[in-house]
Amino acid sequence: MNAQATSPGADAIGVRRQRVTVLGATGSIGDSTLDVIGRHRDRFEVFALTGHGRVEKLFEQCERHRPAFAVVASADAALALEKRLLERGVMTTVLWGADGLVHVAGHESVDAVVTGIVGAAGLMPTLAALNAPRRVLIANKEPLVMMGDAIMRRAREAGATVIPLDSEHNAIFQCLPGRWGDSSRTGVRRILLTASGGPFRTLARDALASVTPAQAVAHPNWSMGPKISVDSATLMNKGLELIEACVLFAVDCDDVRVVIHPQSTIHSMVEYIDGSVIAQMGAPDMRIPIAHGLGWPERIASGAASLDFYTMSQLEFEPPDETRFPCLRLARDAARAGGNAPIILNAANEVAVAAFLAGEIAFPRIADVIESTLDAVNLPHESSVDGVLHVDSVSRDAARAEVLR
Ligand code: NAD
Ligand code: MG
Repeated sequence: MNAQATSPGADAIGVRRQRVTVLGATGSIGDSTLDVIGRHRDRFEVFALTGHGRVEKLFEQCERHRPAFAVVASADAALALEKRLLERGVMTTVLWGADGLVHVAGHESVDAVVTGIVGAAGLMPTLAALNAPRRVLIANKEPLVMMGDAIMRRAREAGATVIPLDSEHNAIFQCLPGRWGDSSRTGVRRILLTASGGPFRTLARDALASVTPAQAVAHPNWSMGPKISVDSATLMNKGLELIEACVLFAVDCDDVRVVIHPQSTIHSMVEYIDGSVIAQMGAPDMRIPIAHGLGWPERIASGAASLDFYTMSQLEFEPPDETRFPCLRLARDAARAGGNAPIILNAANEVAVAAFLAGEIAFPRIADVIESTLDAVNLPHESSVDGVLHVDSVSRDAARAEVLR
């Protein structure tokens, strides 16, 4: 395990309330984060909220939480929102675009940043958040897939505390010893990454060709944004999470085993060399990892319901089926290959999922588009941000061409 997270005392916790920036406030992670923050107004104040398209929702959130800054996609939307807020007596400064996101993520007044933007769009603000010894709670997994090692290095150099919010990685974090350390020293044998299996877990291979976007986003256990819901249905989400786990906990991808657990009660497990397995359990409610991350090392209330062990019927486990769900295999291969492969995988997946949601391609074509794009893009690997963004952009063009083929 890496030593990237610092000890509790090094965190920027003082007597004053912690100032929090919520990137992607108008999404599913944003909603859950603001719910937890709303329960602890004595501890947290909202410094900035960002949305993208859903300006009406951002307006309501700003009225309620009165942040110093808000960020929207365009200059016109920013002007209109700021004017409306002013009319209601809300003095929020509204910024726009990528520069606005970077400004509020890396602002010197911010104690904690929650990364809830979906996709590669969160890369630059995530990097900006990691420029100071603050707490960065990462839900937005795609940047970790694209350039995780560089992100974790930046965190170490700046003294930032990275806390995973993805439920599995937060569970692993909770199952590891109090301090992050080297895996050989902590005696970790492997990580058991659980997956619900998604809405099509029991569907026959032939039937996958005719599933609709509405069926794909109807996750059996979790309520999430559309992109991650489709990723859960293809098992690409677990593939991205495999890479995410390797980055966050500095383990080899062959030491991470995916376990299908349809009830989503156990959120992941850590197996130690003596055979002990430590699991983290709880309701499938993202407010649990978010409250854990915001309060850590203390525990604070999340609003989530208790597990009822009297009514819980069964906990089932099975191996993933990579024939019906090839995205998991593609992600593992990309993790092993390293270099550009995870960047291409992620970019192609974002394009393919958008095309599936738009009704342009059938569900099984998502994996085909990703595989063809991995074959088609052949560029030298360059680990700088510009190099990664170049590969991302070339891969998107290649994936788009595959979609239209
Ligand atoms: P969502 O679609 O509900 O919300 C996405 C947010 O990002 C919105 O606020 C949207 O306005 C913003 N956004 C979208 N495109 C943007 C762009 N180009 N620039 C700036 N902002 C943009 O997504 P979500 O389900 O909340 O997921 C967010 C991230 O958290 C994803 O990376 C996802 O994988 C991860 N995650 C989500 C959950 C969950 O339960 N929802 C669980 C684990 C991890
Ligand atoms: Mg997850």
